Amino acid sequence: MNPIQPEIDERYLNAPEEEIIAAIAARRGELGDRLLILCHHYQQEAVFRFADLTGDSLKLARLAAGRDNPWIIFCGVHFMAETADMLTGPGQKVILPDLRAGCPMADMATADEVEEAWEDLAAADPDAKIVPVTYVNSSAAVKNLVGRRGGSVCTSSNARQVLEWAFSQGDKVFFFPDEHLGRNTSLAMGIPEEKIVRWRRGEADGGNSAAALRRARVVLWDGYCTVHMQFQPAHVEYWRKKDPRIRIIVHPECRHEVVRLADDYGSTERIITAIEESPAGSHWAVGTEINLVKRLADLHPDKEVHSLSPFQCLCSTMYRIKPGYLLWAMDNIARGEEVNRITVDEETAKGARMALERMLEIS
Ligand code: SF4
Repeated sequence: MNPIQPEIDERYLNAPEEEIIAAIAARRGELGDRLLILCHHYQQEAVFRFADLTGDSLKLARLAAGRDNPWIIFCGVHFMAETADMLTGPGQKVILPDLRAGCPMADMATADEVEEAWEDLAAADPDAKIVPVTYVNSSAAVKNLVGRRGGSVCTSSNARQVLEWAFSQGDKVFFFPDEHLGRNTSLAMGIPEEKIVRWRRGEADGGNSAAALRRARVVLWDGYCTVHMQFQPAHVEYWRKKDPRIRIIVHPECRHEVVRLADDYGSTERIITAIEESPAGSHWAVGTEINLVKRLADLHPDKEVHSLSPFQCLCSTMYRIKPGYLLWAMDNIARGEEVNRITVDEETAKGARMALERMLEIS
């Protein structure tokens, strides 16, 4: 469970945003190389503007590992800060400005639940060699379990490579926590639908018959991203009718019904590159978090970039990293006080690193 966010002084919450921004800029200069600020692509602009490095969660953790800044503020969510803590050196402290910034998808698979499901699945098909694969959007405790059972982490960029590796190691893949990344990747690899089963949390044998579990090549945990699940096939149909020049690109955390109707799909990095490399005058509807879509629209005024959904899908937990919380964390660092440090105990980190290193070897 994520720790509790301490209360912060009201002035960080109530001061006009321009005052907070000016104070962050002043602190940033004062802290110099003692501090590295990492920002995920889904961060709001008022925070993102202070990023030293930007990227997806794994890219940021790996970049931070190559630096020697003693303080790292991770403007992202809890599992990202954990990964950064595990990949950086002992002299580096990783701070999450608001501890309430968790990932609902990661929270849908606790290590205890996964362990119990693993045992049930193994009992349902005792002759099969099962290989666990966890999406990077999972807790360190889940990654630890996967590492110790011979499995690997994957990201939305390398999920296919990791699944191909997993099938070279065993008969069946148990994939968590994102059902949709697992399904989209499995179908793209040509695995037939009848060999892909959903593991429903809280139901005996995940709601499956023993025969269905024995037949399955891929067993998918039924977790999902609350942001990407909001995109619907009707949104794709809307844009197709409205604009014949539209190109639709979505994230693989979207349900398959949306992915199969899109022109392309891929990780945040792939979405960014596709739009960057498209010719001036291109029209895009993008199925991912709204802060990234807005930034892409601002960065490419020569192109039309819209959200695929009219409802502006926002990651509300990522949005908790407001400028006031960033300033609060920086003020504490300036005083040498450690607040909101994210650490992973060495025993857990050891297994989790095995799963992360396996992924790095594969990809
Ligand atoms: S966008 Fe989805 S997967 Fe990413 S942090 Fe938010 S809830 Fe989690």
